[in-house]
Amino acid sequence: MQPIQSAIIHYNEQGTPVSDLFDDVYFSNESGLEETQYVFLQQNGLPQRFLNHQRRYFHIIETGFGTGLNFLLAWQNFRVAQKEAPSVCCERLYFSTFEKYPLKKQDLAKALESWPLLAELAALLVSQYPEPVAGCHRLQFDEGRVTLDLWLGDVHDSMPQLSAQNSADAWFLDGFAPSKNPQMWQPELFSQMARLSQTGTTVATFTSAGLVRRGLADVGFAVKKVKGYGRKREMCIGIFQPDIPSPPQLPEPPEQAAESSASTQTAAQPDLITIVGGGLAAISLALTLQQHGRQVRLLCMDDAVAQQASHNRQGALYPQLQASWSPVSMLHALAFGFAARFYQNLKQQFDFPADFCGVLTLACNQTLALRQQKMTAEPAYQGCLFQQLDAEQASAVAGLSLPFAGLYYPAGGWIAPQAFCQAALKHLQQQSGFEVIFGCKVNRLEWQANSATWLLDAEDVHHHQPQVWSAKNLVLACGSQIHNFAQTQFLPLNLVRGQVSHVRSQAMAPLKTVICHQGYLTPALDGLHCVGATFDRSRQQALLLDSDNEANLALVQQVLQQPAWFDDAKVESAKAGLRTTVPDHLPVAGFIAPGLHLFGGLGARGLLFAPLLAQQLAAQLCNEPLPLSEKLSVLIHPARFLTKQKASL
Ligand code: SAM
Repeated sequence: MQPIQSAIIHYNEQGTPVSDLFDDVYFSNESGLEETQYVFLQQNGLPQRFLNHQRRYFHIIETGFGTGLNFLLAWQNFRVAQKEAPSVCCERLYFSTFEKYPLKKQDLAKALESWPLLAELAALLVSQYPEPVAGCHRLQFDEGRVTLDLWLGDVHDSMPQLSAQNSADAWFLDGFAPSKNPQMWQPELFSQMARLSQTGTTVATFTSAGLVRRGLADVGFAVKKVKGYGRKREMCIGIFQPDIPSPPQLPEPPEQAAESSASTQTAAQPDLITIVGGGLAAISLALTLQQHGRQVRLLCMDDAVAQQASHNRQGALYPQLQASWSPVSMLHALAFGFAARFYQNLKQQFDFPADFCGVLTLACNQTLALRQQKMTAEPAYQGCLFQQLDAEQASAVAGLSLPFAGLYYPAGGWIAPQAFCQAALKHLQQQSGFEVIFGCKVNRLEWQANSATWLLDAEDVHHHQPQVWSAKNLVLACGSQIHNFAQTQFLPLNLVRGQVSHVRSQAMAPLKTVICHQGYLTPALDGLHCVGATFDRSRQQALLLDSDNEANLALVQQVLQQPAWFDDAKVESAKAGLRTTVPDHLPVAGFIAPGLHLFGGLGARGLLFAPLLAQQLAAQLCNEPLPLSEKLSVLIHPARFLTKQKASL
């Protein structure tokens, strides 16, 4: 995958942005806004189709994001339609778009200044606009009702990475004129469009060029020319009517009569998703499913949320990039961008301690220094994600004197995971369709083929009373317990005990950013800094050990060369937990059997991965567009261990 190169633009005499590379305008000189409304919305039957659409969401796919004008106008039309008819079936809008040369943020903001009518939406888009990193950046607006999947990279690389589940209801076939951009208008584009269309999917494009009409017709669109906007004579529209009917849409989760009646058994409900767990993974998924209008039941072994690995006071949020660009780096970078936006968006809905104060990773030994050198030379990281700082600059950013150079991630920071989970739970409990059962330990799962339901053998941990639950859709997001079932024993789980010390220090108070060396230090929360963390593979219990506190303090002294600002550091308390990882250190998210999904292996990276993977799982559960490419979906899928197990036999 090529590194992402930003667009270089200038403005013509009419004030319209023009691409230097393609020598073409981003939108019409006359009135881009009205032209978009006519060409892409009206000619795709929008906004009327939002009102009588039979799915819970409408999906537009566009080629060429450019200034985002088409997206903003589609969003505005959707908002108006929702206001006029709030009870229609279609509750959410997905807008997937591809961009090879993204505008720089300041250019985007300037280009969108032309549309005062869209100023509010434009400001929201600009505030979330991602860094120029290849892959799908998921941006969410209006509390999750509007999702923008911005795929950075060549459309010919990205579109084949969309799952068939991401099929379109309407296409905005944009991109510069075929004469100016022949590389994009290739037969592969049209065949991918056919793969991602269903009977009745529509397309509209500003051009009426013969190669476009023929390209669309060849793959199954019934195409016709219609009057173009303003002085333009013609444009073209189409509807997908393949000779071979496309496979039927997967139905919504089946409506089946509730069955079963054991002592405390509850019936499986059609739209209900049961999650076993109570940490970051479970809570992030519950929040996401609630946004998707699904009912959620959380079964939690403890008496409160975030009592296990998600119980820390503070956790650092930053990506752990490989030295060279790779699918793993891409996953980290995309998860990082999504997580930062996720927590920032949620902070507008409920409060929890967090500070996007940046994360500084220090080159504190030769291996790390070499790695950082490689990273700064990697073309895919140029101008994005991190900045290289010398020791003096690093000290200025941190607010404390540091002996090393490092890489600084300005969009990173820290979040309070336990406080976040507690606040999110309160928020969820104020919504309809959410219930949590504490003190409920699930011991065994049994598939009931006749009702296509999972039966959960559980117990009330306080009264040792058996409980039985049934679930059509079940997600195991229970950290170190995730492989305790016959169905999940194949997971090669490692449990690593880790202890974080809570340190009081006057001298460390000026610390302004998270510092990662071989361990980490956070700015103070209520006067206490988190200093961590130990890695202990020898104990399978979350014991608190004085020796671990000593080791945490000693590591700072040793690695950072006895800093004066650490002299008065005193440990006041500590927390220990079991991090759950798998051998490739990637998370595990996906289904392993009908109605049975796994969400775990997040290790010490729950804050980073939980939000994006919750989107992935929610999309799988609700049959909606996935945020991960096919390649990344495979990378994190639990089936990778099933295959390995078979191969080693
Ligand atoms: N829809 C845009 C808007 O609302 O502002 C205008 C799109 S502009 C006319 C065309 C866009 O397509 C440019 O931003 C260009 O960089 C992008 N593009 C051209 N070739 C591409 C390709 N092969 N893959 C992805 N994007 C491409």
